[in-house]
Amino acid sequence: METDTIQGYHIHIYYPEAAGPELARAFRDALAARFEVELGMWRETAGGPHPSAMFQVTFAAPRFAEIVPWLMLNRGGLDVLVHPETGDDVADHGDFALWLGRVLPIDFEAIRAFMALRRQREGHGAAD
Ligand code: ZN
Repeated sequence: METDTIQGYHIHIYYPEAAGPELARAFRDALAARFEVELGMWRETAGGPHPSAMFQVTFAAPRFAEIVPWLMLNRGGLDVLVHPETGDDVADHGDFALWLGRVLPIDFEAIRAFMALRRQREGHGAAD
């Protein structure tokens, strides 16, 4: 498999709901101030495939070598998932995933259900 299938990367910054989002938000803001990234969704509770509250950040593939080392040194004890976007969401969050900190239990059934729904929608759209 060639790495040019990677369209970009996601960073998921997980934080314990009980602790509140402050630490994770400060980490995300520091990241955004320093690098060319796009701030994505913020989930205040566990949901979908994600086992806890989290912030999502995306970045372009050429930025990997500058951003990931900074994440390693500055995550402040937070659990961070970095994954490529290859079009296969299950592999992206599983076999292809890079974890900084603990490996949290991703709900792959939720991802499969989401992918099936998307395929159905795309199939329907193509037939229209
Ligand atoms: Zn993601």
